[in-house]
Amino acid sequence: MDQVKIGSFISERRKAAGLTQAQLAERLNITDRAVSKWENGKSMPDSSIMLELCSELHITVNDLLSGEVVTMDKHNEKTEKLLIEMAKQKEDSDKRLLSLEILIGIFSIIILLGSTMVASLFEMDAWLRILIIAAGFAVSCIGIGYALKIEQVAGYYQCAKCHHRYVPTFASVFFAMHINRTRYLKCPHCGKHSWNKKVISKE
Ligand SMILES: [Zn+2]
Repeated sequence: MDQVKIGSFISERRKAAGLTQAQLAERLNITDRAVSKWENGKSMPDSSIMLELCSELHITVNDLLSGEVVTMDKHNEKTEKLLIEMAKQKEDSDKRLLSLEILIGIFSIIILLGSTMVASLFEMDAWLRILIIAAGFAVSCIGIGYALKIEQVAGYYQCAKCHHRYVPTFASVFFAMHINRTRYLKCPHCGKHSWNKKVISKE
């Protein structure tokens, strides 16, 4: 998606609707700085606000994301392109997230081992020893929690029985047995338990 093109399109449509940045911002309940950032191509309207924005500018979401008014004959083609592009963007960001998960996991283990080693190798008061171990434990728990959250939301799990792909709940990921990223989960589609592989794309 061409953010700069989308930005100048928003600006053009806003002026055509006879609105200032401040007036548009007020109608959408956001700051005029946000509108200015869109129009300069520095950020994209949040998906939660897109429908409202489009109705103020008298355009479709498809027009907005294409940065131009899409004529009917081009409509399906454009929609398809956008959907593919958005799916691709999600896949890329999911891949980055999953690499981040590995980093967070390694970092958490280093903190845990490091704090335990420091506490056991050096002379210190008992309370300090306990404090260091407790702090190391807390930090690594938070790290592992984040890593699990990433694993839950990035990409999908694929049911080994019916091949349905889905995003499970955090609790089911948390409590599931696992070997690396393959987890023993209950499929919401067929209801069977199986070893579900992590996959990046929906199809
Ligand atoms: Zn299934």
